[in-house]
Amino acid sequence: MARKNPHVDAVLVGLGWTNSIMGMELTDAGLNVLALERGKDQDTVPDFAYPKMADELTYAVRYKMMQRPAQSTLTVRHGVNDTALPYRSLGSFLPGNGVGGAGTHWNGHTWRPQPQELRLKSYVEESFGSDIIPEEMTIQDFGVSYDELEPHFDFFEKVLGLAGKAGNINGEIQEGGNPFEGWRSSEYPMPPLARTYNDVLFADVARDQGLHPFPLPAANASEAYTNPYGMQLGPCNFCGFCERFGCINYSKSSPQTCVLGALKQRSNFSYRANCEVLKVNLDSDGKRATGVTYVDENGEEVFQPADLVVLGAYGLHNVHLMLLSGIGKPYDPISGTGVVGKNYAYQMNGGATLFFRDKEFNPFIGAGANATTVNDYGVEQIDFGQQGFIGGSYLSAAMTNGQPIRNMPLPSGAPGWGAGWKQAVQDNYGHAMSIGSHGSNMSYRDCYLDLDPTYTDPHGRPLMRMTFNWKDNDVRMTQFMKQKIETLTKALGPDDYRLSFKDFDSQYDVRPYQTTHNVGGAIMGTDPSSSALNRYLQSWDVDNVFVMGASAFPQNLQYNPTGLVGALTYWAAKAIREQYLPNPGPLVQA
Ligand SMILES: Cc1cc2nc3c(=O)[nH]c(=O)nc-3n(C[C@H](O)[C@H](O)[C@H](O)COP(=O)(O)OP(=O)(O)OC[C@H]3O[C@@H](n4cnc5c(N)ncnc54)[C@H](O)[C@@H]3O)c2cc1C
Ligand code: SF4
Repeated sequence: MARKNPHVDAVLVGLGWTNSIMGMELTDAGLNVLALERGKDQDTVPDFAYPKMADELTYAVRYKMMQRPAQSTLTVRHGVNDTALPYRSLGSFLPGNGVGGAGTHWNGHTWRPQPQELRLKSYVEESFGSDIIPEEMTIQDFGVSYDELEPHFDFFEKVLGLAGKAGNINGEIQEGGNPFEGWRSSEYPMPPLARTYNDVLFADVARDQGLHPFPLPAANASEAYTNPYGMQLGPCNFCGFCERFGCINYSKSSPQTCVLGALKQRSNFSYRANCEVLKVNLDSDGKRATGVTYVDENGEEVFQPADLVVLGAYGLHNVHLMLLSGIGKPYDPISGTGVVGKNYAYQMNGGATLFFRDKEFNPFIGAGANATTVNDYGVEQIDFGQQGFIGGSYLSAAMTNGQPIRNMPLPSGAPGWGAGWKQAVQDNYGHAMSIGSHGSNMSYRDCYLDLDPTYTDPHGRPLMRMTFNWKDNDVRMTQFMKQKIETLTKALGPDDYRLSFKDFDSQYDVRPYQTTHNVGGAIMGTDPSSSALNRYLQSWDVDNVFVMGASAFPQNLQYNPTGLVGALTYWAAKAIREQYLPNPGPLVQA
């Protein structure tokens, strides 16, 4: 029988961005809060100190900070009639593991969605007619508006200390920013990062073509900054060891640098690392959570009683825990009924690598979110009816690192091994830049998450099964971006270039890294028959369970998700504080 811990007011499952924020908000409200994190404890000092962090093999290739497949994985298949097999070697996406979660080793590209992306289905129907939505496409509205979220985007950006240039302040378009963004109530907290040579070349060519280049909103500090929690960041030194690494320099916004230092000082907050939550416990009628069961660092099973349970275990793990705990009806793709696991979606990216014999880019001078960006092909800028797809993308020229193992681009025809490869590396290192597109991915009836019928994890629980493949709509979108990027590429005049975009025969491949922007599975909405959570991220079925993270997105944005993930967490926290705590129960009547 599980050991029983003393009761707490709120238990947080996972300690990444979402539950660090939730910790601040719920302790502010006077609750006694405990966070349980399955990975180890980690902080800038001593864990991220130089020189150990500049070890590409350990961190970027062998994924020291990421989830270990032997500890937790899922099975993957392309279609409902296939057999799913376990994802034994991480590649396509890399969930985090440890205090700070993936926010410790992310890049820091931090966007807000365009307002219409939050009401995508309604926008498409009103603007282009419902006929253009393919029969199998299951896009929905989020159930919360951009205007409602704006104060929360603004505050999250101040907590992160974003470096950028606003394009639209209270409806007034600003020179040098993104003219296609939704309105914002204030300028970015810090000016943009310094520009690198690739940015400058790209921005000039983009401007010549009538586009609107601007600096990518970066969670890499451009100057000294103190955030609303009193946490301090110092300017990024473009060390080139950002994505997949902890920041050596207190420059990358992470839960550690922006939130946890302040949170750990609160007497009503505590956390335990190396504690994996196995399930949310429910009462006899399944309508209320009584707490969670976890395995502690000694392998002992513990029951943690709590009045409120907040899942912030990353999108995929939130869905797995809901399925294992019996929270909400599992989704069935055949009948289209049920909600938990529904609308899993990913991200549709492509890119070009450009080689110049006479240009030197010094790629070792790079930062996670160092890029110049163009948003002229965003969701709100594209005529879906005319183009024949629903979605959009931004494109950017980024220089994030010149790491010797992962970042050694070679022109077509260069040998792949041996003395010829070495010579090609010597001839080409530093002479390449890239232009990438980062695009939306729609949701479909047969792309979903459920429990695997065959494979189990070390605790004997069914693994989660992912059913996913690329669809023509999204491939049409990326092929549209390919034309735009090829035009810019040719205008830059490289000696050689390579293009890499999904084609109509592409199958989802778990091996190459794409993004860790897995969304959906526990989606928010306005109707319990089509969403697992209400508009405040509260479970429709178990009202003292709230679920944070990109699992709430009904389809994926054209952008990186964390800006919206953070804003939604503050939005949910406000509802918990102002509505739920004074009057516990469903915040929306079904
Ligand atoms: C390499 C990489 C680069 C990225 N770059 C960007 C970017 O540039 N821009 C962007 O917007 N997003 C980026 N992301 C995504 C971003 O990191 C996530 O959106 C964000 O971290 C999600 O926060 P979260 O709190 O939902 O989850 P996480 O950060 O994943 O935190 C969840 C925590 O829960 C823990 N956990 C899981 N299951 C359990 C359990 N059963 N019991 C206890 N604890 C559990 C995990 O160990 C983890 O620490 C990137 C991700 C990766 C991996
Ligand atoms: S590039 Fe900048 S933000 Fe990223 S790890 Fe290096 S110093 Fe930190």
